[in-house]
Amino acid sequence: MSILKIVTYPAEVLERKCEPVTEFDRNLARLLNNMYDTMIEEDGVGLAAPQVGICKRVAIVDIGDETGTIELINPEVIEEKGTQTGPEGCLSFPGLFGEVARSQFVKVSAMNRKGKPFVIEATGFLARALQHEIDHLNGVLFTSKVSRYFEEDELEEMEGEE
Ligand SMILES: [Zn+2]
Repeated sequence: MSILKIVTYPAEVLERKCEPVTEFDRNLARLLNNMYDTMIEEDGVGLAAPQVGICKRVAIVDIGDETGTIELINPEVIEEKGTQTGPEGCLSFPGLFGEVARSQFVKVSAMNRKGKPFVIEATGFLARALQHEIDHLNGVLFTSKVSRYFEEDELEEMEGEE
């Protein structure tokens, strides 16, 4: 396993619609393992394949709760309800945080690394993370949804709360 290099904005690969995965092979497993290592190394709660330069519909999310790591292959939001507004950042935009409105609840269909379909329902921060990563697979970046950016002193206050 290895740590992959994070692609930071601007980069063409971050704004492209990614290709669906059709082969659930060892290369996919290796990519997922390396993306996991990279997400942990970079202290992220999610990572999408285009962020490591691979334009495939692959993402992982782990917000550090009891759900554990969610591997999403070819994910689609199939239902969403309500709204939530909160701070959001992205490993491809180091140091940048903004307020983003998202759905409060999402139902997502996806496949696991073996190609087996599953459905996951999430609310709150997990729902936010899922929406952020699925957006990446469509070339949509959180900055296109930010209502306002946080100043450095506001960020320090938020970090102090952790
Ligand atoms: Zn991101």
